[in-house]
Amino acid sequence: MELGLSGKVALVTAASKGLGRASALALATEGARVAICARGEEALREAEAELSAHTQVLAVVADVTQAEVPRQLVDATVERFGALDVLVANAGGPPPGRSLEVDDEAIHAALDANFVTSVRLVREALPHMRTGGWGRVCLITSSSIKQPIPTLAMSNSARSALWSWAKTAAADVFGEGITLNLACPGTHATDRMRQLGLPETTPMGDPADFGRIVAFLCSEPAAFVSGAALSVDGARSLCLL
Ligand code: NAP
Repeated sequence: MELGLSGKVALVTAASKGLGRASALALATEGARVAICARGEEALREAEAELSAHTQVLAVVADVTQAEVPRQLVDATVERFGALDVLVANAGGPPPGRSLEVDDEAIHAALDANFVTSVRLVREALPHMRTGGWGRVCLITSSSIKQPIPTLAMSNSARSALWSWAKTAAADVFGEGITLNLACPGTHATDRMRQLGLPETTPMGDPADFGRIVAFLCSEPAAFVSGAALSVDGARSLCLL
């Protein structure tokens, strides 16, 4: 299938490892030029080297949850590549905690990282997509937006808020040639999953496959898919949405 991503410019945040990196790689192998960020420089440079075998890359050491960073990343991407067509908004997940165990500080931190940061990124990216009359936004969230995970109360809550926001935002921009979707991972074999200490029998998805699904959601033929929250969870969630 021709995804129509060759020559497009993509910003993928939190992309030195795991699902962000796999998404950046899938976009790069389809011919998109990519900008990535992460806080740790060593892994970021490794990711940059891997992506550079396929495309032009901008790699920025940055904490995407800092208020001013989304704007800086978008500006740097446009300065380097002259456009911004695709945004894959990702950030690290909140620490575990059950609903009645989390304090205000943890709630604010999760909302900031997994809700407000994505909104900031979209807000900064949209003017550039409007200029090109074409845009694709994919927000990496979690299957927990459809079936909350009892031990990840903050992840469930912040990402569900993002889903509601994204639903309305998708309708607002669809007429401008811009789609906005959520990719909702279940259990994929990444550092984050290893840190959560799941049982060894838990079925694990391949991050590379997840990246290709993100690339599809950001593709030309996905033009009529918008406002969707696509579960990529190996039938883990027992819900009908
Ligand atoms: P991961 O393997 O731990 O990778 C996280 C990546 O994000 C790293 O490159 C990390 O680099 C970067 N990062 C984290 N916080 C950042 C920040 N504040 N600013 C910039 N970069 C940051 O995690 P993952 O499994 O790919 O998960 C990605 C997202 O999907 C998380 O929100 C996670 O909760 C969610 N999720 C994942 C799964 C899964 O199956 N893996 C399932 C449900 C939800 P630095 O640490 O160097 O910054």
